[in-house]
Amino acid sequence: MYAASRGQTEVVQRLLQECADLKHVSNLFETPLHFATWQYWQSTMELLLDSGADPWALDVYGKSAVEWAYLHEPTFRVMKTRHHSFQVTDEATTRSRLRLSVHLLTERIISDPREDDYRFNKLGYILLQLNEVDDAYVGFEQQIKERKPFQHRIACNSCKTDWMEGKRFVCKTCAAMDLCNECMSKYKEGTVVRGCSSHEFLEIPRPEWENFPPEVVNKKDETIDQWLGRIYKTHQDATISTEESRIVKYESQLANEQIKVESAAKIDARLESITQSGPSTNATTNIDW
Ligand SMILES: [Zn+2]
Ligand SMILES: [Zn+2]
Repeated sequence: MYAASRGQTEVVQRLLQECADLKHVSNLFETPLHFATWQYWQSTMELLLDSGADPWALDVYGKSAVEWAYLHEPTFRVMKTRHHSFQVTDEATTRSRLRLSVHLLTERIISDPREDDYRFNKLGYILLQLNEVDDAYVGFEQQIKERKPFQHRIACNSCKTDWMEGKRFVCKTCAAMDLCNECMSKYKEGTVVRGCSSHEFLEIPRPEWENFPPEVVNKKDETIDQWLGRIYKTHQDATISTEESRIVKYESQLANEQIKVESAAKIDARLESITQSGPSTNATTNIDW
């Protein structure tokens, strides 16, 4: 999965020879082909497709690899030479998968609240795809909560700098496409940054972020725990049973191998402790349970 996301085609090749499972999905529905496609690694995509990867599997964002490829002409050409049809996942299915992803991820963070920027960052990408922009900011800003100097624990997709310093820019169209401050200024000057021509970017952190009190994550005066509780509750009704039948086969695979759904009692206990804590005097009343 990691090798596919970095476009390390030779490593992927070696892994395939050692029988790495092409259908291997992460605990959030991602396949190696999705990783390679998001990052426009065409030779890695070619290898995966020619080795039998399924281009129609839906990912954490409710989209197939074919749909992601469609955002970038050279990448789509790779798909087109192998798969002649193109179909768009309907909006309801995409939205349903996005909400399910939010639900599963927040559930995991709440039941196992260790420090893990990666999960908050992923939550940011998913919320951005759902167009819940204010909440997406909160996910991304967890990377820099130690405050200045900002250091985002995420690589720039253009210059490959591993830890970005200063402002970070997240593409609002593509999933997991980030630019550092320097590459963003080149982008504005007209340098093509692979697939993102004419895409809008979200600037992290938002200007008002520095004015929030230390424990507060947004204008609603929520703490991170209160924010998580609200996001979890908002998307709680997104369950596997509401998903479209076309993705059920991935669900059953995941249910067997990947998703470790925590017991409802454990989640409820954690949520209860969240409602009873928090430093802000008016924050609790802001939560819509
Ligand atoms: Zn860069
Ligand atoms: Zn983009």
